[in-house]
Amino acid sequence: MDSKKVSDIRAACRRCNECGIRTGVKSDDDDLCVLQCSICGKEYPFYKSRQEDRAMKEKDNMPSACNTYDVIIIGGGPGGLSAGIYAMRAAMKTILIEKGAPGGQMAINKGIENYPGFIDINGFELSERFLQHAKWYGLEILQEEAIAIEPGIEFHSVRLANGRTLNAYAIILAPGGISRTLGVPGEVENLGRGVSYCATCDGFFFAGKPVAVVGGGDTALEEAIHLSKIAGEVHLIHRRKEFRAGRILQQRIRRDPKIKVISHAVVTNIISDGNGVSSIIVKNGQGIESELHVEGIFIFVGFAPNRKLVPAGVKMSAGGFVLTDETCESSISGIFAIGDLRAKFANQIVVAASDGCISALAAARCVEMRKAGFTNCKLAA
Ligand code: NAP
Repeated sequence: MDSKKVSDIRAACRRCNECGIRTGVKSDDDDLCVLQCSICGKEYPFYKSRQEDRAMKEKDNMPSACNTYDVIIIGGGPGGLSAGIYAMRAAMKTILIEKGAPGGQMAINKGIENYPGFIDINGFELSERFLQHAKWYGLEILQEEAIAIEPGIEFHSVRLANGRTLNAYAIILAPGGISRTLGVPGEVENLGRGVSYCATCDGFFFAGKPVAVVGGGDTALEEAIHLSKIAGEVHLIHRRKEFRAGRILQQRIRRDPKIKVISHAVVTNIISDGNGVSSIIVKNGQGIESELHVEGIFIFVGFAPNRKLVPAGVKMSAGGFVLTDETCESSISGIFAIGDLRAKFANQIVVAASDGCISALAAARCVEMRKAGFTNCKLAA
């Protein structure tokens, strides 16, 4: 590869540390290319030769032996931990970075009934099993926040909140996502005072009280069933008649005497009496609003992928998910996206685990190719 082409790729990949904006080439000579952020003007030197690139990165934070990995996995949910298991089995030097508790969303799921091998298992327990399995293979787990990914020619880099930078030939992004909000008045103000996005965490506080659940997907119905065992009554409010959730859940909802379904309705306001939620305003299909007395409202209106670490240049779907090939590799070679971050048909624990397997096996091949000097590890079609 000629040096001009290398600098072009670097310019396209590099993002400013301050602004997160793609930098442009300021000056370009035989050895050194200077990139400059178009917003804050900050400059970044880049050496063009592979050896100097490595030397600069290592000097810049990291002795290679301890801070350079074959694979870095970001996120410790079912996808990330499965990737960890497969990466370790492929004898790759692997580290998994997770800022919170392992398990991700899976850990706060009360009852998981569709992970093969378990008719009904608590999400926390299943997370523990994934974790122990990965640890059994000696997976290194770092509890730290990853704040940016910088694609590189030889290595990709992960910047951590503690100021350190780690390098790897391949990165597997498994950061999951966060709950979507309704965006209605009273939602933010009453968070933790009647507004919740986790029935498993907060349901206990509503024993014997009336609550509302908003949404028509698997999460909303599962959580409504969970809440019906604790709360006095559960009003399940859904904006359409048809539920997105699986049929078994729909049958259970309809059979549960404590769950009252309100379809073709949306919540427009969450009202507090000063101590916490006291009622909500529900608008029906005819546009008529009425007040419903509830002391808690549990909102499950979907999930937004956590894409803050996705480097500029990675191709995304219109819905904001990373587009990948069949190996879970993104449009940047050596950067993989799995689980809820990846655009696909179904977001299930078993699918995330499968993504973890596929990405780790593909990453193993990619690492070998990158070590051998190839910059692109995608399989020819
Ligand atoms: P989801 O399937 O995307 O469902 C979101 C629900 O919220 C939909 O019914 C949607 O209505 C409704 N909604 C969206 N925006 C709304 C708004 N502004 N106001 C009112 N309602 C709104 O999300 P999810 O239930 O969190 O599930 C996410 C993924 O995880 C799915 O693939 C699901 O199958 C999976 N999941 C799996 C398990 C499991 O394996 N045990 C458990 C939970 C979730 P519309 O239907 O009208 O769009």
